[in-house]
Amino acid sequence: MTQVSAVKTERYNYTEVYNGVKKSVTLLGGIDKFVKKGDRVLIKPNLLSSKSPDDAVTTHPVFVKAVINLVKEAGGIPYIGDSPSLLSLKKVIKKTGMEDVAVETGAQILEFVESVTINRNNGNIFKSLEIAKELKEIDVIINLPKLKTHVQMYLTLGVKNLFGCIIGKRKAQWHLKAGVNNVYFAKMLVELYEYIKPTLTIVDGIRGMEGDGPSCGTPRDIGLIFAGVDAVAVDTMICHILGGDFKKFYTYTVARERNAGITDIEKIELLGERIENILVRDFKFPTAIIDANFSNYPFIGRHLRNFLISKPKEDRETCTLCSFCIEACPPHVIKKGNGRLIFNYDECIRCFCCSEVCPEGAMKVRQGFLHRVFNI
Ligand code: SF4
Ligand code: SF4
Repeated sequence: MTQVSAVKTERYNYTEVYNGVKKSVTLLGGIDKFVKKGDRVLIKPNLLSSKSPDDAVTTHPVFVKAVINLVKEAGGIPYIGDSPSLLSLKKVIKKTGMEDVAVETGAQILEFVESVTINRNNGNIFKSLEIAKELKEIDVIINLPKLKTHVQMYLTLGVKNLFGCIIGKRKAQWHLKAGVNNVYFAKMLVELYEYIKPTLTIVDGIRGMEGDGPSCGTPRDIGLIFAGVDAVAVDTMICHILGGDFKKFYTYTVARERNAGITDIEKIELLGERIENILVRDFKFPTAIIDANFSNYPFIGRHLRNFLISKPKEDRETCTLCSFCIEACPPHVIKKGNGRLIFNYDECIRCFCCSEVCPEGAMKVRQGFLHRVFNI
């Protein structure tokens, strides 16, 4: 049995958020159980890209501030750290409100710039992983994901948020390594989680994102904070509360297979709220999840594959041709031509990094035949 706490918090008013965060951690035993005096504590929000807090793409600054103040009360030394995929952390922290939080709280900004290779034993699929070297200097990691949908992974919560511990410029390489196979990519995420094992995961679900997240979805008021030591259990509980389909939640299925955490809802004790009081009705999941590993079916030609599965496509009305997606695309299959974007879908691995980095929310998912007809 493991414990996950859920606390209702309706809006980003500092006092309300602080009380909500504190209660969620107190239910698990209190901050002193996790942070000791003098500990260097990494606060790891989702700082996916340079977005305003109201867009619900990044962890809200008021939420981060509340956690930092809690850490300081326990005598910890707080650092805010992440590595956005494209822009420098400096630019991202300005727009997302983290710079102000750092100034107000005295927390230091820790940019992940150097990679260190971790060699792994035979029980793992990935014989080596790369993480930010800066993590080696840290005693405690507090993982602060934003509750969002994800067009490739279904949901991005505690486990997926740790992908930010791979430094920005190396992320594309890991996408390439994992290729079009979502399960394979999820295996990498779960192995990364198993290695990093944050001390605590506290999810900003006050205002989350539904639809085609993690960047181009629709903000959705959910009014909940979740916390737990086992991020897999936290993710499991949230998927259940949102009414999600566990089969499509890749990091969940892989974590279950690898026994990387608790994935049975009956083995998770929910503290704070009763499940029946916080179930989210009609939450909208991504319109298309690339369910199949088409590389396992060589008899399916490329044209047919492109017809069957969903693909990215810019909305010409809102696309400013800024080139961010071109830079972020791991296999470099997007280029500009005749005032629009041109995709080589034959080589596209459907990682949707292009959608993640689009500052205008202009990179949409064009549904493939399989989704339109069979809803997969
Ligand atoms: S789709 Fe988005 S990221 Fe790509 S060029 Fe257009 S506005 Fe920029
Ligand atoms: S076009 Fe988009 S989905 Fe396709 S490989 Fe490039 S970044 Fe990934």
